[in-house]
Amino acid sequence: MGVSVKTVRWCLAALLLLCLAAFFLADYMPHPAQEETAVPDDRLAVQAAAALDGRYVCLTFDDGPSENTAAILDALARYQAPATFFVTAQPINEPYFDQLPLIQAGGHQIALHSASHRYADIYKSPTDFWLDIKQLRQTLSAWVDVEQIHWLRFPGGSTNTVSHRYGGKDIMKKLVEEAEEKGYHWIDWNVCAEDATSAHPNAAAILQNIQQDATGKRVCVVLMHDTAAAGQTVQALPDILAWFSEQGYQFCTVEQMYTMTKEE
Ligand SMILES: [Zn+2]
Repeated sequence: MGVSVKTVRWCLAALLLLCLAAFFLADYMPHPAQEETAVPDDRLAVQAAAALDGRYVCLTFDDGPSENTAAILDALARYQAPATFFVTAQPINEPYFDQLPLIQAGGHQIALHSASHRYADIYKSPTDFWLDIKQLRQTLSAWVDVEQIHWLRFPGGSTNTVSHRYGGKDIMKKLVEEAEEKGYHWIDWNVCAEDATSAHPNAAAILQNIQQDATGKRVCVVLMHDTAAAGQTVQALPDILAWFSEQGYQFCTVEQMYTMTKEE
């Protein structure tokens, strides 16, 4: 007999361990890439398009600050384009917290994303989610005036289904309701750069992804990332800014878009 029962057992055990490791590691990646690629039809963008004439674009950067924040701010300044940064407070962000006051000084909006960005922790229950947000606010308070921060973006978006694994199928519905009760505004996106996917698109592909999603939309909320891995996003940014300008879009923060929509 070539293969003993013992060998087969060992192989099966090793395979099981590998699967378990992959399952748990997926939750602890610094930013869950594929989970953020779906393009929800953001309700605020829909409302803004109905209320406003003209073209508006909210460039948004998730998961920063990072070593790329300074370059992103430079590119935005060259186009005098206000943007929105949905920040996190992971250990990887810590060395770059000094960018937070610079983001605000540049006329950009700082908004909440998550302290840990770990789905397994934040989406276990609403209590766990709000504890994480409290921790994020506490961390940010050393750098910026958190009393001015009223906006958040749920990791993975408000319709993500990965959260169901940890907090049940109603977890996002509950969180959306509680966010509104607590006086938070939240936003998803309707254009995705797909710059944090495992495909690691280059700058040209990132621009193309954005152009594709933006086509036919008068109000665009563009999801990009401000992470150590977002070098290609930085490369693409001047072209992204130029393209939206040429198409007649006005750059605004999420808060500015919301205020304009309300005033109409
Ligand atoms: Zn994120």
